[in-house]
Amino acid sequence: MPRHVTRKVAVRWGGRVVHVGGDAPVMVQSMTNTDTADAMATAIQVKELAQAGSEVVRITVNSPEAAAEVEAIRGQLDRMGIDVPLVGDFHYNGHKLLADYPGCAQALSAYRINPGNVGRGARREDNFAQMIEVACRHGKPVRIGVNWGSLDQELLARMMDDNGRRSQPWSAADVLREALVHSAIDSARRAEQLGLRGDAIVLSTKVSGVQDLIAVYRELARRCDYPLHLGLTEAGMGSKGIVASTAALAVLLQEGIGDTIRVSLTPAPGEPRTKEVQVAQEILQSLGLRAFAPQVIACPGCGRTTSTFFQELAQKIERYLREQMPAWRATYPGVESMNVAVMGCVVNGPGESKHANVGISLPGSGEAPVAPVFVDGRRTVTLKGERIAEEFQAIVEDYVRRKYGRVAA
Ligand code: SF4
Repeated sequence: MPRHVTRKVAVRWGGRVVHVGGDAPVMVQSMTNTDTADAMATAIQVKELAQAGSEVVRITVNSPEAAAEVEAIRGQLDRMGIDVPLVGDFHYNGHKLLADYPGCAQALSAYRINPGNVGRGARREDNFAQMIEVACRHGKPVRIGVNWGSLDQELLARMMDDNGRRSQPWSAADVLREALVHSAIDSARRAEQLGLRGDAIVLSTKVSGVQDLIAVYRELARRCDYPLHLGLTEAGMGSKGIVASTAALAVLLQEGIGDTIRVSLTPAPGEPRTKEVQVAQEILQSLGLRAFAPQVIACPGCGRTTSTFFQELAQKIERYLREQMPAWRATYPGVESMNVAVMGCVVNGPGESKHANVGISLPGSGEAPVAPVFVDGRRTVTLKGERIAEEFQAIVEDYVRRKYGRVAA
């Protein structure tokens, strides 16, 4: 399926330029959950998200105290060598904050404006225009981010009334979907009329239902060429949030729709915020759209496995590979496409291991306690004893150095 053709938007900070849309790879973004008024805590979380692979990080700018700290956050990040672009998320008072805190307006690389949350009646128009004017003055792109939880209620009421006059009225769900699409495109066109460049606008229309999201984005893609930011809003916790986000995003990305994504997970207590970045990367890598980190292929295990050893080995190798990536990315270009297989028995172990760059087939029940290792499809050594995990990790390390180090040399 060819990719939905969109304009290319540049999001900049310092010497760094991240492109959204056009022929740019689908970009991963995330959002902090710290109090933006706490500059140090926010800068630290932005750093963690950026180091996990978030290519743009959004922070909420919800109060004068938060707006006053944005420059400090940016400065702290710059001192830490983190040049990830920051996007400010504005609701209700964005027009005032952007006007009152020009340092904030300048330190941000882009603004997210929710047209449902910029005021009512005539004030809505004025407030929206003020924010667009600031974006134009500072040369910042804008994401017009519609959300069904905060859809412009005046627009929805008007569209419901119009629908009532149809000879064959649409369902309420269809009207709501149309209102989301209409609000996003109409706001983007209005922003262009106000002077914002067409290649400085990204659209999103987030909903929490998978089928709604797919339907709305298909319609957006059919009707405009603005880059589209995908995300299932309020996706939820744990496996539910991951599965729902993956189901929705995978369908759209497979159809070539979507230029940037966020996975809006609710972290479990103690769970790192970076999980949403990892999941977003894994969605893109599973679809073959991008490569971020070596993949571990592990069998699920069954009655033929005698212990949890192979699960532990798979987990250990996966953690090890992910931890190495910040350093490996620069030193070993291409390593992110590597596959490592960790398999539980002879049934699929050798076969799957041969397809991987490096693979190990651990002994299942009734098999001799030895683990053949395969490198680039060829059986190389057979490991046994207590140090299989350490020896296998050393083989993987050596493979990375030999295969990807040569490229760097
Ligand atoms: S590879 Fe072996 S242990 Fe793993 S699931 Fe298949 S049969 Fe079971």
